[in-house]
Amino acid sequence: MAVTAPVHWFAHRPSSAAFRHVFDPADFSPALKTRLLILQPTPFCNIDCDYCYLPDRSTTARMPMATLRLAAQRLLDDDLVGDQLTVVWHAGEPLTVPVAYYDEAIGRLDEVLGPHCTLSHSIQTNATLIDAAWCALIARHRIRVGVSVDGPADLHDAHRRTRGGQGTHARVLRGMACLRDHGIDFHAIAVVTPATFARADAFFDFFEAEGVTEVGCNVDEAEGPHLRSSLTGHEAAHAAFIARLLARSRRPGARTRVRELAMALHLVAEPVPVQHWQAHAWPMNVQTLPFALVSVAHNGDFSCFSPEWLGQPAPGFGDFVFGNVARDGYLEAAGREVFARVWSGIVSGTLACERACAHFGYCGGGAPANKWYENGDLGSTETLYCRSVLKRPFDAVLAQLERDVPARAMRGA
Ligand code: SF4
Repeated sequence: MAVTAPVHWFAHRPSSAAFRHVFDPADFSPALKTRLLILQPTPFCNIDCDYCYLPDRSTTARMPMATLRLAAQRLLDDDLVGDQLTVVWHAGEPLTVPVAYYDEAIGRLDEVLGPHCTLSHSIQTNATLIDAAWCALIARHRIRVGVSVDGPADLHDAHRRTRGGQGTHARVLRGMACLRDHGIDFHAIAVVTPATFARADAFFDFFEAEGVTEVGCNVDEAEGPHLRSSLTGHEAAHAAFIARLLARSRRPGARTRVRELAMALHLVAEPVPVQHWQAHAWPMNVQTLPFALVSVAHNGDFSCFSPEWLGQPAPGFGDFVFGNVARDGYLEAAGREVFARVWSGIVSGTLACERACAHFGYCGGGAPANKWYENGDLGSTETLYCRSVLKRPFDAVLAQLERDVPARAMRGA
């Protein structure tokens, strides 16, 4: 479906005097392209984790197909589609809408975007609803699957419960077994808390026993209605946890890799892709680069930068909603004051990180949502989040490599 409304490029751009840094797509090289399109098929979730930041998880609304088509078409209209685009079905439990919804939705996206790019799909699920029909859909569309599971039953069931207060671990194990039975590879994402840090070996053993090849360790972040991370005051224990996971994943025969450690090794070993903005060369970071990551809510509201922003109340920032695909083009919306204020803050924060942080060359300025929720300032620098997911794993890997080099040299001597 063509979008017939004329696009008014930056019709409402505020004067450059109003903000320190003004958004202009011409300032970016290579040109801005969307890499991740996060679509919210529904805000509803069938369970009720106590660290969840999603505000509307009891709402059963669904994204209409017309909205989904517009979300894709608007990218084309603004020349934001590059060679590859990943669609992430998220921001609610995606498996609470029917299998047939995805067959239709993926077909519509293929019609709009398929001729222009290589399209792939990804689902992050709590796995409680996975059955043979879901496995067939996943195989049919080669969907990449991430399962949310926090490790052994007691760690998991302490937080990931039904609305009636029942633990969900047994149902998740059944879902994972179903995936395995159908030959579907999946990765896992675990939310780690101080209780996990005290059980590093049991945590690692669980994923090894389940045949999970990669586990990501998310910290429970202070975001939206979840006001305080449980990591506050426990960072030394987190460092010991990371060190233990590194030791376990290096043992001969270990099959599970830890996402943050693997990413750190990759950052050390490979050149970091660079994005030029004005005279700056910054490491590629989809959370600080406009429209690299676009989030579209079930009702067509859209945001970019940090995916957690979608639907979160933020007085003074228009709840981080920059427009609605029914009315607005993405770049058209970027000409408005709310976007300009957010962008100016993100640039200030990125420049501050560039000046202050030894890890900037690998990070590129972190996650604006965490700067906002933890420090109350987009222009700020370090957060508990960046220390936990980037700095600490990176430093652990670097220190290990430094220890390995003399050992190898000794062996070679
Ligand atoms: S690690 Fe933290 S302080 Fe350093 S560049 Fe990233 S966000 Fe900024």
